[in-house]
Amino acid sequence: MTRVLLASRNPKKLAEMRRIFTPLSSIEVIGLDDVPPYDEVPESGHTFADNARIKARAGFEHTGLPTVADDSGLAVDEMNGMPGVLSALWAGTHGDDEANLQLLLRQLADIPDERLTAAFVAAVVYVDGEREIVVHGRMPGHLVREPRGTNGFGYDPIFVPDGHDVTSAELPSDVKDAISHRGQALRALAAELAALAD
Ligand code: IMP
Repeated sequence: MTRVLLASRNPKKLAEMRRIFTPLSSIEVIGLDDVPPYDEVPESGHTFADNARIKARAGFEHTGLPTVADDSGLAVDEMNGMPGVLSALWAGTHGDDEANLQLLLRQLADIPDERLTAAFVAAVVYVDGEREIVVHGRMPGHLVREPRGTNGFGYDPIFVPDGHDVTSAELPSDVKDAISHRGQALRALAAELAALAD
């Protein structure tokens, strides 16, 4: 059994990756809380893939384990793809989801509803010392001005995925996983790793 480190402390991401990797019975997914602590590097990249690569390389260098890392965010068309890699700290404090969402809504106040198109975007990078695999996922949709729903996190309460009429915070997590940016990227990685194992 190969242990693969997911360079994250987020239990939801760990659970999601374990669900998606279940068919790969030869891989056990562990998280940062399962390895000796190391100094985490700043996410200084300009793209999601850069940031995911920084985190995956650091995990591999410190543990010697094949490491997967992800980076994701919301790209608003009318804002030329921002908040983008700055999604988590858009209002100034890292991870203040409510402040980030409220600031974004204020910035979009004068934009007509039909131009509020956006997408959640994710990059996932796998590093094992021999190879680096980079995969992407994208969930298109549009924004609404009144937050709705309590599932999910971040900008989910104001994001309606294409093909749905509820926000991604109103979708059950298995339905969101099936269409989400991170779900797509992780499934693409699982397929590449399965092909390597054959
Ligand atoms: P990270 O990749 O977990 O660091 O996420 C970066 C930021 O992007 C989060 O803090 C959220 O604001 C936003 N984000 C990424 N994925 C999602 C999602 O699936 N739903 C809502 N917000 C997300």
